[in-house]
Amino acid sequence: MIRKCKEHGYFRGGVCSQCKSPGRYVLDDTREEKLGRFVSGTLRHFPDSAGVKMDACGWVDLNDFCDILINRYRWLRKEYLYALVESDEKGRYEIDRFRIRARYGHSVNVDLNYKESELPYVYYGASPEEVDMLLENGIIPVRQRYVHLSTSFEKANEVASVHTDNPIILKIDARGVQGDGLSLMHVNDYIVLAEKVPPEYLFQV
Ligand SMILES: [Zn+2]
Repeated sequence: MIRKCKEHGYFRGGVCSQCKSPGRYVLDDTREEKLGRFVSGTLRHFPDSAGVKMDACGWVDLNDFCDILINRYRWLRKEYLYALVESDEKGRYEIDRFRIRARYGHSVNVDLNYKESELPYVYYGASPEEVDMLLENGIIPVRQRYVHLSTSFEKANEVASVHTDNPIILKIDARGVQGDGLSLMHVNDYIVLAEKVPPEYLFQV
């Protein structure tokens, strides 16, 4: 469920995490999920089949996108799209004036043009089964355009815990990777994207 706090804006769940106010009801779970799945799928994987025109950096015109959404979901109001984007706890999307795009997770070929990360180390959570292979071959993207790395040990642990009970966290020498001319892109406070990570910059912690 999405609600809106007068002070702190849109949020997921029953009460605002900052002031505990219940705020105003905006969208129920079912509609939030339907809308979320279509927005994520379109902006990350199938803009063409949804009839969406996407530029080289992944941006889509907000009004055009709303027209497509309204055509698909008669109940939709433009506010719901803002509510979905602004309440998203993983920062999946960004709206820039008249445009919207997914921040990460693309399988379509996009040039996300983020600034280079300035962190000395970034992290990746692996399952015990895959660790040896990663240390040997490095990390390369599977079914996605980029490898998703975390900005902290804790975040990497959180992400990996979804897939495995005993995540093993790999620490990555970010300066070393960038020194090889490979980009590490700063997406938001949690995520850094890489085209790949060569094995010599990976350490088990
Ligand atoms: Zn609040």
